[in-house]
Amino acid sequence: MRCHGEKAVAFAGFLAIALGCPELTSAFTVISEAKEAELGRQADQEILKRFGRYPDPELEAYVTSVGERLLQVVEPRGIKYQFKVVDSPEVNAFALPGGYIYVNRGMLAELNSEAELAGVLGHEIGHVAGRHAARQMTRSLGYQVLTLGLIGLGAAAGAKEHVGQLGMVMGQLFQMILLGYSRDFELEADDFGLRVASKAGYDPQVIIGFHKRLRLKERLEGSGYHGFSTHPDTAERIVKAETLAHLLAAEGGGAIVGADTYKAHLEGLLYGEKGQQKRLRVYTAKGGENLPQVALELFNNENRAWELARFNGLKENAVLKTGEKLKIMPD
Ligand code: ZN
Repeated sequence: MRCHGEKAVAFAGFLAIALGCPELTSAFTVISEAKEAELGRQADQEILKRFGRYPDPELEAYVTSVGERLLQVVEPRGIKYQFKVVDSPEVNAFALPGGYIYVNRGMLAELNSEAELAGVLGHEIGHVAGRHAARQMTRSLGYQVLTLGLIGLGAAAGAKEHVGQLGMVMGQLFQMILLGYSRDFELEADDFGLRVASKAGYDPQVIIGFHKRLRLKERLEGSGYHGFSTHPDTAERIVKAETLAHLLAAEGGGAIVGADTYKAHLEGLLYGEKGQQKRLRVYTAKGGENLPQVALELFNNENRAWELARFNGLKENAVLKTGEKLKIMPD
């Protein structure tokens, strides 16, 4: 017996065959939203245990405020969203079913404006609202493995026979979190995130600028955010997002950038790997100075202007306005 339309990995395919395959082709709405929320709750504990929550309630409240602004233009579907800052240096953000959204401190250090943060959060809200985790797990694990795994989730000690399926569900969930979803879901989340951010008032062109900067950084450093560096379709994703951003801008999309507002929240943010962390500093411009002058003043080395430019998403010949803020990576 074969399961039509099932693109499972070999072992999951085998299990699906062994268990029989009901409606795999049409199994799209899969599991209830209540089960999704339960799965999210359980995985949330695992995330916080594995990475730790970043201990800065004020910063987390700011991230939440940007998330809530976005949610005002998203159709409410009974999902209760929560935004948490994770104590990880990786430039990453991710979401769990049921409305759990995480931004790593490493991502916050990399971002340069509230608009960019809105782009990241909008993308993650898109994965939740689109129920991508449940849909992708139905594709890859099969309806039965997913359902049985979730029975195991609800039934604590009693349902030992479903521990295997639950393990597969959790394993798959964490793989998606770390490596990103399939190409179509990433494109969908990009599209959703840009539209929502723009509708909430943020400048879509600025968000695209961040996508490009991130891609360049990842090519240089080999790190990855939602399959950005590892995925062969990244170029296509950026072109598609760029086209949409132009369209949204032409339709009179949002104009908020919020660079200084954003950077003001980063003073003292831990930066770098655990064990060798430093704290970011924020420099406030007097006005009229250029980056070599700032580098000379702060590092006694004007050649480090390029570093300031890169880290802050500025051109090296930028002249600062009064009150403009710069993130400073300490030595
Ligand atoms: Zn994604």
